[in-house]
Amino acid sequence: MNDLAPKSAGAPQPAGKPKPKAPATAYNPAGVSPSRRRRNKIAIRLWSVRNARFFEWFYNHFANVFLSLHPLIKRIGYQRAEAPVKFVERGVKGFLFDCRMCGQCVLSSTGMSCPMNCPKQLRNGPCGGVRANGNCEVEPDMPCVWVQAFQGSQRMKGGDRIMAVQKPVDQSWRETSSWLRVTAQAAAARDEANAETAR
Ligand code: SF4
Repeated sequence: MNDLAPKSAGAPQPAGKPKPKAPATAYNPAGVSPSRRRRNKIAIRLWSVRNARFFEWFYNHFANVFLSLHPLIKRIGYQRAEAPVKFVERGVKGFLFDCRMCGQCVLSSTGMSCPMNCPKQLRNGPCGGVRANGNCEVEPDMPCVWVQAFQGSQRMKGGDRIMAVQKPVDQSWRETSSWLRVTAQAAAARDEANAETAR
């Protein structure tokens, strides 16, 4: 008997090539296939678009609450607030909209359908390849995010915003909080308006 063999080893391995290691893959919870997880994500995304009117209302109020917190955030420091706010933003918007954290959110102009889920990442409407059933030409099982965007915008009060031309994505803003940026911009605009009226 080979004293160097591990005690827990079972039947001796046949000599020859060592068994190839299984390729390292992303963690895959038992019973939930990647395609099923993907379907679930799309289902939630479509649900959010169906409820675009509610999310529009909610976002308007939410933005006002954030704006009222501007003095506090300013005192803490926008940079220091970035990490925790981004953590929450990623969790909430990732769950509801499959957010990709582009850092320049346009959901309120796109019927609550995130354009960054378009495989071509088009920010101003669909390409010419939408299938007859309204699905994407690149991912045939996925409804085109721009068809969804149009449907979502029809449910919103400010649905006309879908006609606004969006700037190209500024990649330097990726992985930053859109909520904080919008709040800082709104606070700056408000301060400027107040200064104008005071003159
Ligand atoms: S537009 Fe950008 S920030 Fe808004 S949900 Fe899509 S990836 Fe996220």
